Amino acid sequence: MEKIRTRYAPSPTGKMHVGNLRTALYEFLIAKHAGGDFMLRIEDTDQERFVEGAIDIINRTLEQTGLTHDEGPDKDGGFGPYVQSERVKTGIYMKYAKELIDKGEAYYCFCDKERLATLKTEVVEGKEISIYDKHCLSLSKEEVEANLAAGKPYVVRQNIPNEGSTTFRDELYGDITVENAELDDMILIKSDGFPTYNFANVVDDHTMNITHVVRGNEYISSSPKYQRLYDAFGWESPVYIHLPLITDEDHKKLSKRSGHSSFEDLIDQGFISEAIVNFIALLGWSPEDNREIFSLEELIKEFDYHRISKSPAVFDIVKLKWMNGEYLKAMDFDRFYKMAEPYLEKFIKDGLDKKKIAAMVKTRIEIFPDIEGLVDFFNELPEYDTEMYVHKKMKTTKESSLEVLKELLPALEAQEDYSNDALYTMLQNFAAEHEYKNGYVLWPLRTAVSGKQMTPAGATEICELLGKEESLKRVRKGIELLGG
Ligand code: GLU
Repeated sequence: MEKIRTRYAPSPTGKMHVGNLRTALYEFLIAKHAGGDFMLRIEDTDQERFVEGAIDIINRTLEQTGLTHDEGPDKDGGFGPYVQSERVKTGIYMKYAKELIDKGEAYYCFCDKERLATLKTEVVEGKEISIYDKHCLSLSKEEVEANLAAGKPYVVRQNIPNEGSTTFRDELYGDITVENAELDDMILIKSDGFPTYNFANVVDDHTMNITHVVRGNEYISSSPKYQRLYDAFGWESPVYIHLPLITDEDHKKLSKRSGHSSFEDLIDQGFISEAIVNFIALLGWSPEDNREIFSLEELIKEFDYHRISKSPAVFDIVKLKWMNGEYLKAMDFDRFYKMAEPYLEKFIKDGLDKKKIAAMVKTRIEIFPDIEGLVDFFNELPEYDTEMYVHKKMKTTKESSLEVLKELLPALEAQEDYSNDALYTMLQNFAAEHEYKNGYVLWPLRTAVSGKQMTPAGATEICELLGKEESLKRVRKGIELLGG
C-alpha cells in the first residue's frame, strides 16, 4: 500500500484562523493515524495577499499545538522546495502549463484589462468574476508566437469545453458532477509568471505524492476544474475531503468579528493550546462514543476521517471554556502555576502567597483571566452588601452574624497561630462551646474576610493567607457594617 501523505498548505496572509488550524489538524491526524507523513507547504504565490510575519505565525502555531511536520521548508524530505515562490524559480509550473498547452488543454491569453472589463460577469461565492469568452483560443500558432516574441503580457488559461460534464469525488459528499458550461477558463499562470492557487495545488499535490487533501468546502466548486487538470495530465487525483463551514453561535461564518476566530485570539484570551486543539478536533468530527476529552495522542488513535460531518460546525465558546477548565484541573501544578503567575502578578499584591492562591483557584477557573474575579478580594476588601450574611441553609441572619462575630473577635485576637489547621480547630472548639453548628460561625467569618458570595477557599484558608492583622481588620469592619 502506498504511504499516506498529507499536507497543510497555508497561504501566509495573517493570523491562524480556527478553520485553518482545523485543516492542519485533520491533515496531521489522517497522516499520523495511518503512520504516514504530514507535510508543510507554504502557498505564497499571491504576492498581493502576503503578510510579513505570517510564516512565523504558522510555524509557531504548529509547534505550539504539537502538529509537527515530517517535511517542510525547514525539513527536506526530497520533495522540495516547500515554498511555492521558490518552486516558481525551478520552472515547474510553466513546464506543466506548457504540457497542457501542447495537449490543447490550456492556452495563452493576451487580452488586456480593457477587453476583460467588457466581458460578462457572474457572481461566484459573493465575488464578481468575469467569464472569459475564449477569445484567445482562436489565435493561430503564429499569432501566439508573434505575441510572445514581442513580449506581450499574457496569462495561461485552462481550456474547458462548453459541452459535456465533469465528475469528481469527495469522500464526504460522494460523486459531484457539474456541467462544463458552468466552468470558466480559469487562469493557471498569471501575468507575473506565478501560478494561481488553482494550478499550483494540482501540480504540487501530484509532484509531492500527496494522497489525501483536506480543505475548506469553499474549494468544492473549483474541484471539478482541478479534476480536469488531473485527467489532462493523466494523473490520479488525491482523496478529497472538503470540510464543513465553521459558524459562530448565530450560524454565520466564523469571522474576526466574533473576537475568537484565530488561534492567537484564543491564546490571548487565556485558553491553552491542548484545549483549543481538542475543541477544534470536534468541530466537524466526532468519535463513535460521546467522549469529548482527547489528548493529541488519543486523537491520532481515534481519528477516522469517515466520521467527519457535512453539517456546519458551531463554534461554541461556552463549551471551549468548559473544556479549558477541564484541562486546567488535570494539569500538573507547576505548569499551572507558571501559566497562572502573570495573572496572579497582576491581581495579587506583594506579600500574599501566590502559590497558595494558585492552588485555590486551579479547579475553579475555566480560563486564566477568571482568576481576577476570584481573587481580587485578597488585595482589598470590596464594598459589600450585608444581605450576604443571610444564609438560609446555615440559618444565619444579619443579627446572628453580628452576634457571632462579636463573640469571635476576642478569640481571634487571642489566637497566635493563623495557620489554616490551627484556626479551623479553634473555630470548631468555639462553635462547640457555644453550641453552634460550624457553618453558623464560618459563614459570617468568611463573608467578613472576603466581602464575597463566592470565594475560592473557606474562611480559615482565607484568614491564613491574609494573616492575623488583616483578618482582624476585616472582622471589625464586618461588625461595624452590621451595626455593632
Ligand atoms: N493555500 C490555501 C489556503 O490557505 C490552501 C487550500 C488547500 O489546502 O488546498 O486556503
